[in-house]
Amino acid sequence: MADKQENTWAAKAKRTITSVLPVSDRRRDQCVNCGACCKLPNVCPFIKPGEDGKEYCSIYPIRPLNCRKYPRTESELVTRDTCGYRFE
Ligand code: SF4
Repeated sequence: MADKQENTWAAKAKRTITSVLPVSDRRRDQCVNCGACCKLPNVCPFIKPGEDGKEYCSIYPIRPLNCRKYPRTESELVTRDTCGYRFE
């Protein structure tokens, strides 16, 4: 397993800079709208709770690349407890 990143502003900056790179071909499954990655490390002002108990992005069509691709790599996956994605 790759080294796990911490939930820090430095990690967020790294995710932002590297978000132009492709998503790992080892990523499997899908987002389950847990909303955890929308709080790394601050709570995004565009996150909205749904009536189904899930979290939704209110600017989804124009969301930034680092949101669009999270988790791009296994080391980026700091929301392992609730995220619907996994890496083989
Ligand atoms: S942490 Fe994973 S499952 Fe949760 S909202 Fe982000 S991508 Fe989706």
